[in-house]
Amino acid sequence: MTVTVKKYLSDLASVRQWAQANELPAYRVNQIQHWLCQTQIQSIDEMTDLPKPLRRQLVEAFEFWSTRIVRHQTSPDGTEKLLVQLDTGGSVECVLLRDGIRRTICVSSQVGCAMGCVFCASGLDGVERSLTDYEIVEQFLRLQRLLPAGERISHVVMMGMGEPLANLANVLSALELASSPAGLGISPRRITISTVGLPPGILKLAEVSHPYNLAISLHAANDELRNRLVPVNNKIGIASIMEAAEEYFRATGRRLTFEYVLLAEINDQPQHAEELVELLGRRGAMLNVIPYNPVAGLPYKTPAPQAIREFRKILLDGQVNVQFRERKGDQIDAACGQLRRTLNVATFE
Ligand code: SAH
Repeated sequence: MTVTVKKYLSDLASVRQWAQANELPAYRVNQIQHWLCQTQIQSIDEMTDLPKPLRRQLVEAFEFWSTRIVRHQTSPDGTEKLLVQLDTGGSVECVLLRDGIRRTICVSSQVGCAMGCVFCASGLDGVERSLTDYEIVEQFLRLQRLLPAGERISHVVMMGMGEPLANLANVLSALELASSPAGLGISPRRITISTVGLPPGILKLAEVSHPYNLAISLHAANDELRNRLVPVNNKIGIASIMEAAEEYFRATGRRLTFEYVLLAEINDQPQHAEELVELLGRRGAMLNVIPYNPVAGLPYKTPAPQAIREFRKILLDGQVNVQFRERKGDQIDAACGQLRRTLNVATFE
């Protein structure tokens, strides 16, 4: 008995293998890649520059999608969220954000998350598994297809579910396609990987020939507090993250971004802002402060406007390059982790 293993078109490595086995010229794979990455088509039959017999062969060998869209939400500010069901079970969220001419997508790297940040819903049930590279690619392709013909994705942030540096090989392979001119053609300068701060992964990223932007989710400037908020910090410590970050900057010249989710009465006090000044003040790094987006069932709260103002003043006085993100609206660089949550709360409970 022959067992047919399902193959998917977004798995371009397996398309390439198949093409070789079938002695197709290499340009056929380029044609397929073009249809996938640079058009809105959703079936092999629409690949009109492929001979019909080849299309038939392809249909027999490949499914167009490995994923299924099970929810699609649009918010009035133009944000669109997809909940994508994976063929082997589990689902992930990905988001398209519109801001002026920017078309930013926020993409997941794992089903769940093992990092355990106490305020984040992604990791509440731990990690199920890492996504394959083509499951990450499919999020790009699905989101590209939400845009009208002629509009292209301009920015990618790996800020969805999961820890990208815990699935680095597949994330890099997917981003290779996102950034290649024959793929989605998005400049690496417009691609950001957000991490909880895993030094070995940061050092590996520093070696990528066309570096991506790196965002480090800090959330506390002292280890005692960070250990409580970001349990994985117990084994790492802020000092070694800063060392790896320095090395990343040295090797790539890319300005680092730190993210700081403000939790009322936990990490929003004047002394916390002063510690941030001490840690970041003399560095050229950017700090993105994100007011917490409450998660149903978790006790954390968004700080009051007055606390946010005081926090901000200390940072500005301390010469930190700080941006305060809005909870809604300008979610472009920082909020996909929370959008999935919003979606779950809104539609899945
Ligand atoms: N694991 C990676 C990327 C995913 S989370 C990381 O830790 O960076 C993307 C960002 O959203 C992180 O900075 C995360 O701390 C933040 N985040 C998670 N839950 C949030 C919430 N409820 N409100 C605001 N930001 C949140």
